[in-house]
Amino acid sequence: MAGYDYDLFTIGAGSGGVRASRLAATFGARVAVAEEYRVGGTCVIRGCIPKKLFVYASEFGHMFHEAQGYGWTANGAHFDWTKLIANKDAEIDRLNGVYIRNLNNAGVDIINSRAVVKDAHTIHLVNENRDVTADKILVATGGAPWTDQSVTGHNLAVTSNEAFHLEEFPRRVVIAGGGYIAVEFACIFKGLGAEVSLVYRGEDVLRHFDRDISVQVHREMSRMGVRVITSAVFDKIEDIGGGARRVHLDTGARLDADLVFWAVGRKPATDGLGLENAGVALGKNGCVIVDEWNRTNVENIFAVGDVTDRVQLTPVAIREGAAFAETEFNNSPTKVDYDFIPKAVFSQPPVGAVGYSEGKARKKFGGVDIYKSDFRPMKNTLSGSEARTFMKLVVEEKTQKVVGVHIIGDGAPEMVQCLAVAVKAGLTKKDFDDTIALHPTSAEELVLMRNKFIE
Ligand code: NDP
Repeated sequence: MAGYDYDLFTIGAGSGGVRASRLAATFGARVAVAEEYRVGGTCVIRGCIPKKLFVYASEFGHMFHEAQGYGWTANGAHFDWTKLIANKDAEIDRLNGVYIRNLNNAGVDIINSRAVVKDAHTIHLVNENRDVTADKILVATGGAPWTDQSVTGHNLAVTSNEAFHLEEFPRRVVIAGGGYIAVEFACIFKGLGAEVSLVYRGEDVLRHFDRDISVQVHREMSRMGVRVITSAVFDKIEDIGGGARRVHLDTGARLDADLVFWAVGRKPATDGLGLENAGVALGKNGCVIVDEWNRTNVENIFAVGDVTDRVQLTPVAIREGAAFAETEFNNSPTKVDYDFIPKAVFSQPPVGAVGYSEGKARKKFGGVDIYKSDFRPMKNTLSGSEARTFMKLVVEEKTQKVVGVHIIGDGAPEMVQCLAVAVKAGLTKKDFDDTIALHPTSAEELVLMRNKFIE
């Protein structure tokens, strides 16, 4: 658009911002993206990717033990935290480089600066102390960990941001929260050899998942030795010297730790962004309110990803970024379809889920048929591991469509990514039954469940 420096100015080079910027540039737009930290955003730099590398590292903690049942001797296995951090950092640097290269190749200007909105078409680049103008602005600043500042000593605890860079491996860890990050990090630290306590305000962790999954994850975590403390919250955190902390719970209990970790949710990153200068309306927790076209109340300002607080997942942010670019720069109006988004929690064993939980399906469809299978996977016969695999199908009674699949067990996220195609396509329980089993796998159970579960 003549008169402006850029056709599109994106604030935030995370998953959503990068996809939108690259695509818009390939459609011929003049695009710049500002990033105050590192290109790649939460997912690549301090989220999904380094977390999954930590998960792989911690799984070995169980494998050395379990390998003995298969005839291996693995005495003297030793874990080196410093080496893991260094190798993880090298991989993150590589991915950061790939993201930068991809933006450069698409012709996007990368500006390493904090960007603040001055008015609907002007952005101030704080580090460079200059203004640029753009026809359209895309806010893709993501989110940041939230901590409960009403707790005395709240700043003695870290968040996931710092957990990826700890200089020393903590021997005793106390985690607040019972969601994705709390559960994943509890399993990571436990697998790597720490003593772990997880403090959750509710009854069973992963409250938003199917209740059977919550109960099973809770059970598996306890089985692997994580101390899961429910119906409790932090009251106070105290520095007791030598780098140690004492956590006081509202129940009166006290827990000593080398690391205290907040995992109580994330908040959209809009503080100090200047959106009020352009009159952009914000919602609960400071999220940017957008419509189905990712448009804010200001005609030329858009937002995608976690900053909109819709679904806080990388692939969703990427879809939203792509839909925005298609709509605004390729004359191809595109909306994101939010139905049947597959989800995974990289607990140990991991969880995979797509579609309705039993509770939500009963509310939506009335009658549902439930199928469950709970078994010890074959690998665990010789390994001696007590970990079980649990699978559940939720079927709408009237149409017999499979509307929910919930799995905890090795390979669950991989299974669910594939099953999500079947569920999204509206396949029925009969379609599952008509499919021949693939033997011997755990996944074959999914096509072999014949008996409805009766309470
Ligand atoms: P979640 O929303 O998953 O969990 C937050 C947890 O904190 C819940 O257990 C919640 O309890 C608890 N909580 C909230 N407020 C308080 C409070 N005041 N005091 C005590 N406990 C509290 O957030 P996470 O931080 O774990 O993760 C943020 C988001 O990032 C996730 O929602 C997810 O979308 C994404 N993510 C996805 C991952 C994946 O795909 N594998 C991995 C990591 C993150 P309650 O349940 O009772 O509300």
